Amino acid sequence: MEGGMGREKRVLFNNLRKEIHDEKVLRAMEKVPRELFVPSEGRHMAYKDVALPIGNGQTISQPYIIALMTSMLELRGDEKVLEVGTGSGYQAAILSHLLARGTVLTLERISSLARTAATTLDSLGCKNVEVRLADDRLGAPEDSPFNTIIVTAGSPKLPQSLMAQMAAGGRMVIPVGTRMEQELIRVVKTSEGHTVNVLGPCRFVPLIGRDAWPEK
Ligand code: SAM
Repeated sequence: MEGGMGREKRVLFNNLRKEIHDEKVLRAMEKVPRELFVPSEGRHMAYKDVALPIGNGQTISQPYIIALMTSMLELRGDEKVLEVGTGSGYQAAILSHLLARGTVLTLERISSLARTAATTLDSLGCKNVEVRLADDRLGAPEDSPFNTIIVTAGSPKLPQSLMAQMAAGGRMVIPVGTRMEQELIRVVKTSEGHTVNVLGPCRFVPLIGRDAWPEK
């Protein structure tokens, strides 16, 4: 890696460490070269703490939000994880590192993004990740239940279809709100129903589908 980018990476992770106190997650993020998940024109920005365009009107999320969401999943390393919204594949690569004995199924509705992400994840040897093209249902009921679900696009509500795909005791982190602004929430499925924690404001591209937003 050239010097400038190395310095920016150190600055980024020093800053993340002031707010995120989950070393396991931060170390996994440090191992994944974010520049490989960003199109060449944005590569010089790979270690800025900002979301960046990845084509098709979509984005790779801001590192701080990725660190926050991943730490809130509280992974042990053996879970079966569903990600809705593969995008660049960066979040899936971080999950792959944290799941020494687990698996990630990541779904993307835009086929060119799914293909590029699968190629990048393959090139990094992320063998416990499957990238799959999403249909208009949310999630993958045929592969459920999942211990953990991470949704990386903004939903109008907590989707019942995804709640149904979660194992008892399972966790989900999902942005919920309008098409423009959301609150990041963490949901834990209990024997009586579920509990919800609000983690803070965020801004994601919309989650599109039958139990979410219409395309336009
Ligand atoms: N996690 C990604 C990363 O690490 O680069 C960032 C995801 S980007 C903010 C949101 C993605 O969700 C977009 O690529 C979008 O096409 C996808 N998306 C939106 N609705 C979806 C759905 N119902 N199923 C699967 N993917 C969806």
